[in-house]
Amino acid sequence: MALLPFNEAKSKLLSSARSVTETEIVNLASAFGRVLAEDMISPMTVPPFSNSAMDGYAVHSSDLSAPGVRLPVSQRLAAGDVSTQLAPGSAARIFTGAQVPEGADTVVIQEDCVADGEFVIFNRMPIKGQHIRLKGSDLITGKSILAAGSYLSAAAIGLIASVGIAEVKVFRRLKVAIFFTGSELVTPGELLPPGHIYNSNRYVMLGFFHGLGVEVIDLGIIRDDRLATRDALRRAAAEADLIVTSGGMSEGDEDHVTAAVKAEGHIDVWKIAAKPGKPLAFGSVLSNKKEAAFIGLPGNPVAVWSGLLTLVSPFLRRCQGLTLIEPETLTLRADFSYTVKGNRMEVVRVRRNQSGGLDIYPNQDSAIISSAVWADGVSMIPAGLAVKSGDMINFLPGPSWNP
Ligand code: AMP
Ligand code: MG
Repeated sequence: MALLPFNEAKSKLLSSARSVTETEIVNLASAFGRVLAEDMISPMTVPPFSNSAMDGYAVHSSDLSAPGVRLPVSQRLAAGDVSTQLAPGSAARIFTGAQVPEGADTVVIQEDCVADGEFVIFNRMPIKGQHIRLKGSDLITGKSILAAGSYLSAAAIGLIASVGIAEVKVFRRLKVAIFFTGSELVTPGELLPPGHIYNSNRYVMLGFFHGLGVEVIDLGIIRDDRLATRDALRRAAAEADLIVTSGGMSEGDEDHVTAAVKAEGHIDVWKIAAKPGKPLAFGSVLSNKKEAAFIGLPGNPVAVWSGLLTLVSPFLRRCQGLTLIEPETLTLRADFSYTVKGNRMEVVRVRRNQSGGLDIYPNQDSAIISSAVWADGVSMIPAGLAVKSGDMINFLPGPSWNP
């Protein structure tokens, strides 16, 4: 079978991603990481009143004709106080966040003034309008603040709070069922019998999926057995929107995932021209008339990490209802030389260095998970290409990215 170019595999995958449609109302305090399901417009003006950006004195600039002017202090305004009209020829003592009185157009910082009993002396001429945060300088009533499909970051929920909205409509959480095939797998914490290895993929997947804010249904380790795999698929499809598995995807006697998915739904197995991450299965599983999408990753932990980063995360973000599904790929200088000898594009683990270039992890073997720990992203180097130090290459930031 001919190898499928990575970009084709990715567009095939992304074009079949269906966004959840069901929504729910959540309190803003628990909305972090969710996906906004409606366009939001501001019901108010922010700031709602002009306020001082500094501690000092509010004046009308025309009252300060030259340095050394002495004005009476006619009111004192702390944050939360309500101001009254500033008497002409006077100053108001004012603190950060306090309402600027009508009749004042400038705040002079206290460092440029000398308090003198009931009076204040201005030693330096201000610039008219300085240190005032004008009413509406952030938002005005009716202005669009966030679009449906936005990621609710810390800043975004802060913005919603600033206009007094306490609840938001978000897409329901995506449910992702995971299991790990392999009769050699043992859960960390348990004794390791001869011939066995610990299940690292479980934790790689949990990390990615928790980072993406989805609900995880963890079915654990499934031994290399056709019926056990089919049973796990049915249980997964009954509950989840998407099933992601690791291992058992090759064509060996002990690889049962492909045949099991075929028996419970349908499957396409792609041989992607990428290293790591050559085999990738995409399909669906039916259970009680409910269909769940299926993605099967190979067993190697680095292949799982790289597949989650480059393919599953953007797919999943689209299913979550997000508009932005992946970070922009940057172009950075390679501070290393590397030749891709085979006929597959290589997803190499790299890290940005102090001088703005990229370093490469010395061991790019697909089984070395330390490379993914060290890296802060990957570069995709086309087959046959010899990257020389100083060349500009692509860089995809690692899994901590959020829209
Ligand atoms: P497979 O795709 O099932 O042939 O597995 C490929 C390689 O990855 C084998 O060496 C497996 O032992 C290893 N492997 C499979 N699943 C896991 C897992 N969950 N954690 C760590 N290594 C695994
Ligand atoms: Mg296996």
